[in-house]
Amino acid sequence: TKFVYSFDEGNKDMRSLLGGKGANLAEMTNIGLPVPQGFTITTEACNDYYENDHKIRKEILDQIDEKLDQLEKEQGKTLGAEQNPLLVSVRSGAVFSMPGMMDTILNLGLNDTSIKGLIESTNNERFSYDSYRRFIQMFSDVAMEVPKYKFENVLERVKEEKGYKFDTELSIDDLKEIVVEFKNIYKKEVGEDFPQDPKKQLLLAIEAVFRSWNNPRAVVYRKLNDIANNLGTAVNIQSMVFGNMGTDSGTGVAFTRNPSTGENKLFGEYLINAQGEDVVAGIRTPQSIDTLKNDMPEMYNQFVEITQILEGHYKDMQDIEFTIEKGKLYILQTRNGKRTAKAAINVVVDLVNAGVIDKEEAIMRIEPGQLDQLLHPTFDQKALKSAELLAKGLPASPGAASGKVYFHADDVVEHAKLGEKTLLVRQETSPEDIEGMVSSEGILTARGGMTSHAAVVARGMGKCCVAGCGELRVDEAAKEIRVGDRVIKEGQFMSIDGSTGCVYLGSIEMTSVEVGGNFGVFMGWVDEIRDMKVRTNADNPRDAKKAIEFGAEGIGLCRTEHMFFEEERIPAVREMILADNVEDRVKALDKLLPFQREDFHGIFKAMDGRPCNIRLLDPPLHEFLPHEDSAIEELAKQMGIRPTELKKRVVDLDEFNPMLGHRGCRLAVTYPEICEMQARAIAQGAILAMKDGHKVVPEIMVPLIGTVNELKMLRPIIEEAVNSELEKAGVEMDYTVGTMIEIPRACVTADEIAEVADFFSFGTNDLTQMGFGYSRDDAGKFLGEYVDKGVLEKDPFQVLDQKGIGKLVEMAVKLGRGTNPELKLGICGEHGGEPSSVEFCYNQGLNYVSCSPFRVPIARLAVAQSTI
Ligand code: ADP
Ligand code: MG
Ligand code: MG
Repeated sequence: TKFVYSFDEGNKDMRSLLGGKGANLAEMTNIGLPVPQGFTITTEACNDYYENDHKIRKEILDQIDEKLDQLEKEQGKTLGAEQNPLLVSVRSGAVFSMPGMMDTILNLGLNDTSIKGLIESTNNERFSYDSYRRFIQMFSDVAMEVPKYKFENVLERVKEEKGYKFDTELSIDDLKEIVVEFKNIYKKEVGEDFPQDPKKQLLLAIEAVFRSWNNPRAVVYRKLNDIANNLGTAVNIQSMVFGNMGTDSGTGVAFTRNPSTGENKLFGEYLINAQGEDVVAGIRTPQSIDTLKNDMPEMYNQFVEITQILEGHYKDMQDIEFTIEKGKLYILQTRNGKRTAKAAINVVVDLVNAGVIDKEEAIMRIEPGQLDQLLHPTFDQKALKSAELLAKGLPASPGAASGKVYFHADDVVEHAKLGEKTLLVRQETSPEDIEGMVSSEGILTARGGMTSHAAVVARGMGKCCVAGCGELRVDEAAKEIRVGDRVIKEGQFMSIDGSTGCVYLGSIEMTSVEVGGNFGVFMGWVDEIRDMKVRTNADNPRDAKKAIEFGAEGIGLCRTEHMFFEEERIPAVREMILADNVEDRVKALDKLLPFQREDFHGIFKAMDGRPCNIRLLDPPLHEFLPHEDSAIEELAKQMGIRPTELKKRVVDLDEFNPMLGHRGCRLAVTYPEICEMQARAIAQGAILAMKDGHKVVPEIMVPLIGTVNELKMLRPIIEEAVNSELEKAGVEMDYTVGTMIEIPRACVTADEIAEVADFFSFGTNDLTQMGFGYSRDDAGKFLGEYVDKGVLEKDPFQVLDQKGIGKLVEMAVKLGRGTNPELKLGICGEHGGEPSSVEFCYNQGLNYVSCSPFRVPIARLAVAQSTI
């Protein structure tokens, strides 16, 4: 097998073998861009290393040797030689980009003799020792796991002793001394001398990159982004170019467009006289790429030309690393740039308008889940005016957030678990902070630029982030922020606006977003292509209106009981529940009817001719009753009965297992008058809406059917109630009666049920609960571990389990349509807004999916992608 490829042997389509970085280095080599040459060790070699007991086999070692020889010949240099030494970087490169998640070593090949060669060939002693000390530190950290701070401490000490502010002030003698001290640290920590043999250095570095595939932050990142664990990483060995050779050198990162907004303008940063990681790590605050135009006009023009070539070649926004060595430009990496949802939409709409890609391509490029970001609230403008502005940083990732500040990722995770809204505040973030970033509402850093770690990762996650807020003095050890004469301590509220960079004291009210502009254009294309309907779950006219704005085409689930909890009606609800004979119950129901009628009237008006699926009462009745003694007493007083009597009734209604107890259609079977009242209220509400001039399309849904006999009994009751209302009003109306399919037995006997039902709506929350036998309310105790231990791939309450629960759905669809070809099918569980579950529903031939209003656009896009 071929395990090692020179850059000129690969291309961009070989990602799975060469990793993203390697494939693109090869592609850029092919199209003639100035890429420092090198070779790539494949992901297969990485997997082989893991299979072979963490050893690199001889066959692979030989291939590496051969490519190294070849590189040395081409470059006319020898790795680590005393004269004209070749130095290389050893760079990880996974198939999917995992920015900063794995480790890279620069300047490899330096040792006590090759440093002489480097000094001779570059005529730059300071630079040479600077490179050597960087190499020792990086190698020790990445390959030998010697903590970075041991080296940083030495550096800080020397700077302090000499009264320097910047690394660049270190003299040659300082650096020489630092190199000696660094080597001593190595010896003390590792137990042997710093390796002088360049081949040994190389081998240890390659193994370290292989190992870094499994470092904790890489594992967390993969889990978050659904990247498989068995892909492995490639390793790129590339000859070094130096951005730290003086003021005619530098290094930087740029996006071909603005990754926050999508604006078609070069966006990036660079540092003069610096090497690789300095820009991303936020160690010095870099300059905007625009100023390169004045600093080095020639370099700027060349770079701009290359960025245009790259964007044209990849037909997408690129994120490009470059280095300038003594007035010569090199490109070190390109990849499709991570971007916010807003930028993603603006970029694809732009590319379609420019004729670079077509609409289908545009639709496929947007991750449905990403739309979530766009639909999230921002600060209320009025509340913002009275908020106290503390400082301004860089608007690194848009959105707004308020939360209690914490200074360590662990603290954020811990407090977020307790349900607190938190902000992660750091001097600067590093990949170790990733879990804290996930758990927080937003991220605030004092140092680092727009391409700093915090900024890049936050944009990818859709978290809001303000970076490089230099006015804040963040003291992570004391857990406080000082700004002016203010001190903000851990646990206090702050607010950040990632679109403006503003940082405020206290928490600020939020508002919802507008959906127009390019988003509207894009969603228009989505709707042109999409061929399955998307509805919403909404219980009131307000949610229904919101959902229509988001493109909902009907209500897939209106839970009537949500209307019961309101203050004026709960007494009537309780009266109904506590009635011990039919007459009393009917009396209480009569009080409830006008409320329900108004609810339905409002919803029918809001939906204006779109179908409305209304579910009859579902939860166990005791949910509406108080359980604490004091509350029972109060209610008894209100009702004019004795507390003991009430208490007895409450205890009577208590169930051992309410989820499997007296609920759903079982209530209607035992108390038909409840079902009858609701049917009448629906009919009356619909009649009122019709009188207002609206079209109405009611669908009346009976929950929790387990046997066809339940529906056979309830359907006539519903029809009689509705028809008598219509007759009374002298109007005609089409309506349907159907069932929720959420009990496994209903799936298995769907052929029978479909003979009496006009529609099925899959209630996949309950179906998952009952299919797995996992109580929804208790599953939290074990599901997390099930997923961590790989017993389950995903939480089945979030992502439909297609294999098991999906099979029940499939069976119900086939059996149901078999006896009733007209049967209308939909889904109304949480899964209706989850992209992979939506695709499943599409493939089953459902008529619609239904989800919460904010997920409607996500579902629309997921349907369009399934259609393509
Ligand atoms: P990451 O995936 O974390 O970005 P990279 O492998 O891209 O890691 O490298 C880290 C930094 O080192 C980048 O800024 C990159 O441009 C720089 N770098 C990598 N290889 C070289 C090289 N051969 N010469 C100069 N700089 C390099
Ligand atoms: Mg990189
Ligand atoms: Mg249910």
